[in-house]
Amino acid sequence: MKELLERKKGLHRSILIVDDEFIEREMLGAMLCDLYEIMYAENGIAALDILKQRKKIPSVVILDLHMPELDGFGLLKIIRSDSELRRIPVIVLTSEKGSEVECLKMGAADFITKPYEAPEIVRARVEHSVELAEDSVIIHETERDELTELFNKEFFYEYGKRLDEQNQIPMDAVVIDINRFHIVNELYGKDYGDLVLKRVGSSIHELVRSTGGLACRSGSNSFAVYIPHDSGLKENLSRYIDRMCEKIGDKNISVRIGIYLDDGSGFDMERRFDCASLACQRLRSSYTTCYAFYDAELHGKELYAERLIKDMDRALAEKQFKVYYQPKYDIRGEKPVLSSAEALVRWQHPEFGMVSPGQFISVFESNGLIQKLDRYVWNEAAAQIRRWKDTFGVTVPVSVNVSRVDIFDPMLGEKLTVLLKNNGITSENLLLEITESAYTDNAAQIIETVSALRDMGFRIEMDDFGCGYSSLNMLTSMPTDALKLDMAFIRDICTDTKAARLVGIIIEIARLLEVPVIAEGVEIKEQMELLKELGCDIIQGYYFSRPVPPDEFAVFLTENKEDAYAYN
Ligand code: C2E
Ligand code: CA
Ligand code: CA
Repeated sequence: MKELLERKKGLHRSILIVDDEFIEREMLGAMLCDLYEIMYAENGIAALDILKQRKKIPSVVILDLHMPELDGFGLLKIIRSDSELRRIPVIVLTSEKGSEVECLKMGAADFITKPYEAPEIVRARVEHSVELAEDSVIIHETERDELTELFNKEFFYEYGKRLDEQNQIPMDAVVIDINRFHIVNELYGKDYGDLVLKRVGSSIHELVRSTGGLACRSGSNSFAVYIPHDSGLKENLSRYIDRMCEKIGDKNISVRIGIYLDDGSGFDMERRFDCASLACQRLRSSYTTCYAFYDAELHGKELYAERLIKDMDRALAEKQFKVYYQPKYDIRGEKPVLSSAEALVRWQHPEFGMVSPGQFISVFESNGLIQKLDRYVWNEAAAQIRRWKDTFGVTVPVSVNVSRVDIFDPMLGEKLTVLLKNNGITSENLLLEITESAYTDNAAQIIETVSALRDMGFRIEMDDFGCGYSSLNMLTSMPTDALKLDMAFIRDICTDTKAARLVGIIIEIARLLEVPVIAEGVEIKEQMELLKELGCDIIQGYYFSRPVPPDEFAVFLTENKEDAYAYN
């Protein structure tokens, strides 16, 4: 552990490069030798010798796949099944698309393609893998977070529960998040970010010392504090928070605080923190420090969510969910041509009336029920494509939303195949929208799933593009067939020249990636014309139509019939 901690501070990092080609080894070594001490091995056996000697455990192993003696696949397998070695991230060198997925499946942390990309890309990939691996070891394997010396989450909950069992006194839960922390990190560097975390941590120590209780660093930029109940908690807290901000001395840093005050309802520790987090989530990342309490309104929302969950199965059985369709128009030619539609679900609830997806999708996402709903919608959409084909003789591709959990479903491809078959349509007819943030959350899994789906002939549209913090570097390795620009970018393009330029830049990026850009949320003609000028390919929005029930959608099919045959 000590060795790892030292490495974390930038000391003694080394890398093992395993490749049978001398030139390749040297080239890679040259790109990385100022960051790391480099060790070389010409095949898997030689690499294993070095690893087994354990004199120096490398921070990362960079591994060629094809080598004599013991090849990359073999070595990767050995490393991943060894309890000591498995912590070392392995980056695979590959020149074939197919093996990337296989290596990620086998537990590789990342891959670098041959011929090598620009040195900065290679270096960034290596550094990223090293940091991720070191963070996870340090945060998970010690009782305390190295940086702030607060407990880590696991121990925090363990000790908190013990405290509850022994003392049985009312306890309040507080969640503290640093606003826009990733931006602080990006703008001022990781060292500065660390300093901010330390200072926040030290103020929380002070607080807990004075009130009793315990605290942890619960995420990269979030903290949890469990303290004996105090009806004047907010005043007490604000004193510490003010002092903390003074100590940090940076007006750009602020925190948001969610509080659950013990009200005798007997919630367990986890439930209390769920309530505090819920309150905290209500405070959007802002520039000022702010507080929110878990209160009657939030409680009401929770009850509503619980009711929706309870009613869901019946709603599915009774077909209370209605799928609406919103057209997407291709604006590249002289006149707009219908290119596809997006399926958007609504809930015709017997008691609440028409409920919009904004109310229930996130509820179903948080407990996995979304998978059932998504499948229902996909089925409806597939059946609709068939019906339109039969009635109007045109095939309108329909895009459906694919949730994060769907991506983890090993049966996803199979389920989709069955659905296509049942409805007599093909994979080109059903477009899949995956939100960009899913891509950034779990790159390896997404690459695997999306690549497999594309191999099956599905086209993937990256939804809400611009909201998920994809780095440019990452984008180039992300398989996608279209970028769907988030609505927020479109809103002000006609009044704000900066907003328009930003959209222009994103369209340029899409050109670079050789994929079309879809703009959604286009409400007025001026937006449409400006987007056309900027080179946008496809438009979706109220300007053309709101999402409508299938029978109303038929109008778009008939008016476009002569052009729409292009999609058959
Ligand atoms: P989204 O996928 O980004 O869908 C676009 C949303 O923008 C839709 O809201 C649509 O009605 C709305 N919209 C379209 N054009 C305009 C416009 O010109 N102006 C404005 N202000 N809004 C416009 P909707 O239908 O309320 O859906 C909200 C979100 O719910 C969707 O965002 C999607 O994330 C989710 N959703 C909807 N149906 C499904 C589904 O079947 N499965 C899953 N997983 N999510 C769904
Ligand atoms: Ca969508
Ligand atoms: Ca979207």
